[in-house]
Amino acid sequence: MNTATTSIDEAHAISLDEQDPLAGYRDRFHIPTKNGKPVVYLTGNSLGCQPRAVRGLIDQELEDWADLAVNAHFEGRDPWKDYHEQFRGPLSRLVGAKPTEVVAMNSLTVNLHILMTSFYRPTAERYKIVIEDNAFPSDSYAVGSQVELHGYPIDDAVIRLKPREGEHTLRTEDVCELIEREGQSIALVMIGGVNYLTGQLMDMQRITEAGHKQGCVVGWDLAHAAGNVPMKLHDWGADFAAWCSYKYLNSGPGAIAGAFVHERHHDTDRPRFAGWWGNDPATRFKMQPDFVPEHSADAWQLSNPPILAMTPLKASLALFDEIGIDTLREKAVRSTGYMESLIKQRLGGKVEILTPSDPNQRGSQLSLVVHGDVSGVRDLLESKGVIADFREPNVIRVAPVPSYVSYHDVWRFVDVLCELVR
Ligand SMILES: *Cc1c(COP(=O)(O)O)cnc(C)c1O
Repeated sequence: MNTATTSIDEAHAISLDEQDPLAGYRDRFHIPTKNGKPVVYLTGNSLGCQPRAVRGLIDQELEDWADLAVNAHFEGRDPWKDYHEQFRGPLSRLVGAKPTEVVAMNSLTVNLHILMTSFYRPTAERYKIVIEDNAFPSDSYAVGSQVELHGYPIDDAVIRLKPREGEHTLRTEDVCELIEREGQSIALVMIGGVNYLTGQLMDMQRITEAGHKQGCVVGWDLAHAAGNVPMKLHDWGADFAAWCSYKYLNSGPGAIAGAFVHERHHDTDRPRFAGWWGNDPATRFKMQPDFVPEHSADAWQLSNPPILAMTPLKASLALFDEIGIDTLREKAVRSTGYMESLIKQRLGGKVEILTPSDPNQRGSQLSLVVHGDVSGVRDLLESKGVIADFREPNVIRVAPVPSYVSYHDVWRFVDVLCELVR
């Protein structure tokens, strides 16, 4: 989409929706309303909208629990004993993995810790962890507590990647250069595939290669990447990854998260926390004291899965499979570009965009800085029927999620922003 020439007319937004092959998918979601009208929902990067199929699937599990109780493990319509296995296929397609490399379990920060238990194995020479300076706080706390657990001071052991003076986002060459320079002291590189604050999509392949060249383990936090951008974790050779499922994956508040462990780490004697659901299913119910790990990412599972909590993920992943992540990505590139174009044309100079303008360096998000008094911007937006996210001190994050945000929504948002900024 050419930023300079895109029409700013409302009629153009409507015609883009008319030509949009994904327009019909909006009806497969509950869109929140205000005064009886659907809001412009731009916080799918924080909590995705509810797929309409969720309720029926939860009802099914409630009924099977009521009617069959323990027998639903074997006789339920979707037997609970193997329930988690159905997530392997769809998750592997989303992140570009083999089905045996992914597992749906726990929540994101929990998974980061479980994976760091296996993949952060510091030695006296190699003990540092690299994260982004503007990493999501939970990631900072997680790596900080891990280095302390192993007896290293945070100030020394956690390297925080900063953008260049006067810039908002990281340059891949700078990240690789730091890894090359300090690589021998770095045990783990663990950054966000898409940064939550700036929306920057990192070059995961190049950074993974740079880390491996120096002998570092490379793991990815995909909280803002899963369901947002296509990935090839297996081919890129990432060691591990974790993500949450309530943002772009639309699976509800605190939804069951995901994890990836590259197959070269299966069947190794890497230490891990173990639980019975990580044991080989062939002997899981023999109730033996010795742990026999599964030959897959499932080996990192601890507990039997919370069926009711996993059900929304089932509904949501079915939609991702139906549409396909590449098709979603195509629309995301267009609608994010459309939003950028409207903002530049109508608000240039008053609103700064922190997110890279190169589509290859971003997903479905723009992070905006509105200059001047921004107190109350979020509430003002909401009073006009727009739900957007505001981060201290002055960043507005907006996500035109391709499955349910229309081009007209994008137009309405920019129109309301014009009104507020004027
Ligand atoms: C959303 C997000 C989290 C949240 O962690 P939970 O364990 O799901 O509460 C952590 N890290 C990043 C990068 C996030 O974007």
